[in-house]
Amino acid sequence: MKKCCLCILLLLLFCGCASTVTETNFFAMDTIMNVKVWGDGGQRACQAVQDRITDLDQTLSVTRADSAVAQLNANGHGELPQEAVDLLEETLALTERTNGALDPTVYPIVKLWGFTTDAYQVPSASEIAQVLQTVGAGNITIDGREVTLANGAQIDFGAVAKGYAAQRSVELLQEQGVEAAVLSLSGNIQTYGTKPDGSDWEIAIRNPFDTDGVIATLFVSGTKAIVTSGSYERYFEEDGVRYHHIMDPKTGRPADSGLVSVTIVADNALLADGLSTALFVMGTERALDFWRESSDFETILIAEDGTVYVTEGLAEQVECEVFQVVSR
Ligand code: ADP
Ligand code: MG
Repeated sequence: MKKCCLCILLLLLFCGCASTVTETNFFAMDTIMNVKVWGDGGQRACQAVQDRITDLDQTLSVTRADSAVAQLNANGHGELPQEAVDLLEETLALTERTNGALDPTVYPIVKLWGFTTDAYQVPSASEIAQVLQTVGAGNITIDGREVTLANGAQIDFGAVAKGYAAQRSVELLQEQGVEAAVLSLSGNIQTYGTKPDGSDWEIAIRNPFDTDGVIATLFVSGTKAIVTSGSYERYFEEDGVRYHHIMDPKTGRPADSGLVSVTIVADNALLADGLSTALFVMGTERALDFWRESSDFETILIAEDGTVYVTEGLAEQVECEVFQVVSR
């Protein structure tokens, strides 16, 4: 009888310590998203995040004909909700900072290659040259919430929308008083707070050469955005050549920069998302120079020859068979 009471007591103690975990999956922004929340109020927090991201998708999607951004693209002129204007302004600041490696006006190029419709094709040089004439952030004018696209320009938030969604979700989790959470928005991981057992967040970096495998594991604590852009995410092959979805706005072709994967770790998820695309376009040397000039992110670059570069701020947080530490 005594033994039995002790067991029940231990069980109660154990249950008292264990924090509940609520998890939800939903489809938005063309991908499956997963949200996991620790502690009380998990159900409410998961629902709030799902509603927020679904709302954002309805505004930002280029493929839903009725979205504010699709309407703007169709008419060349229009009013955007304030948060889409904010996102556009923040994206254009990154366009300037990355010297045009990230450019939301690359959308007509993305379309030309068939990445929005899955009707993939390798366009001719003259088709590319023609569409390139519409590309350039200088074609965008913002006046309050009124946006005008000159020269046939069209915009796409594909490179930053998930980062923006993660950033907004962090604010929601704060408002809801959530203890710890992790969002997995296909290639965009957002950690929030500290798990009840105090352990680090463990993030697997996909092996770009064998996408069922993991090439490195990253350990982070607290609230961080960990975003990866890879040429293995979305691509098609023709005549033995692989064409992927990250475009070089200067050439109008899939970026042929020698990189196959770029991971950015930063406090801000929009920054991390934008830079994962931009550094992919830049290639190793320019990307590392850019990192040396910056102080708001760390990065892991994987080159097509298999070299893994890890910037020094992450060196102690990475587990990987072989890697090169990059110093300032
Ligand atoms: P993913 O969407 O796979 O996570 P990214 O964040 O790198 O990958 O975004 C790629 C998407 O962004 C493309 O599908 C396209 O819509 C858009 N895009 C591609 N190249 C660029 C670029 N250089 N600048 C801005 N947007 C881009
Ligand atoms: Mg990105």
